[in-house]
Amino acid sequence: MTPAPNFVVLTDALHALKESNIRHCEALGFTYDELNAINELSLDELFVLSRASAQFMNVTIYNENLRQILAQSRPEPSCSPSRDFCLDCGDLIPEKRRQLIPGVRLCVHCQVAREQCP
Ligand SMILES: [Zn+2]
Repeated sequence: MTPAPNFVVLTDALHALKESNIRHCEALGFTYDELNAINELSLDELFVLSRASAQFMNVTIYNENLRQILAQSRPEPSCSPSRDFCLDCGDLIPEKRRQLIPGVRLCVHCQVAREQCP
């Protein structure tokens, strides 16, 4: 079952309250009085509140931010073709390596050497 947005937000706010992170709760939009009231609820009462059919908050998707995050989570397609010969040492890059790694520029030895050097 997917948790209701109310439940997710309440859980997050309570977790922040336990860590005395009032700023986080205020950033979510809770007032100080609301936080006090929520903090005094029993577990059962919290459960009922979290299952309330009336939504007490709104979710906004920042499309531009999401688009950038999605773009960063995908590897960039390689625009340059694989090299036949290693850029560093000039050795032939094996066919299998060129097929496995599109846009490959280094032989495996030089790749390892570059990754080990800061
Ligand atoms: Zn090399």
